[in-house]
Amino acid sequence: MSHTFAVCKNCHSVNRIQIARAGEAVCGKCQAKIPFHGLVSDVTEADFRKLLKVSDKPLIVDFWASWCGPCQMYGPEFQKASMENDKAVFLKVNTETETALSGSLGIRGIPCTIIFKDGKEVKRQSGAMNAAGVNSLLTQI
Ligand SMILES: [Zn+2]
Repeated sequence: MSHTFAVCKNCHSVNRIQIARAGEAVCGKCQAKIPFHGLVSDVTEADFRKLLKVSDKPLIVDFWASWCGPCQMYGPEFQKASMENDKAVFLKVNTETETALSGSLGIRGIPCTIIFKDGKEVKRQSGAMNAAGVNSLLTQI
């Protein structure tokens, strides 16, 4: 059975989650609900760095902001791709709150999609895409 990872918003432990049960996922440690949009979860910089260390799948991250029009169009497509592709762990980072992470990655324009594999950036794509574009990006790593 295929799996993904998410960090608990309550106790901050990393959870390995069976994709088939993601809709009702709760934290293995504190039993808090694990929220997903499709199979996308929102992460802080701390959450992201934890997942970068433990995940045995690549991480694909949508860097976005609430004021960004193209980001609002891209969000649902990224979410759709997350339901179609179990090759990666799908994450969203709000660049308005996670300014240090966005700065350290040198993100200039959003939306910006970055794929991390074995702890390192392997692919970066600026601008909105449709779900097929996201899936295609994942075939290029
Ligand atoms: Zn927890």
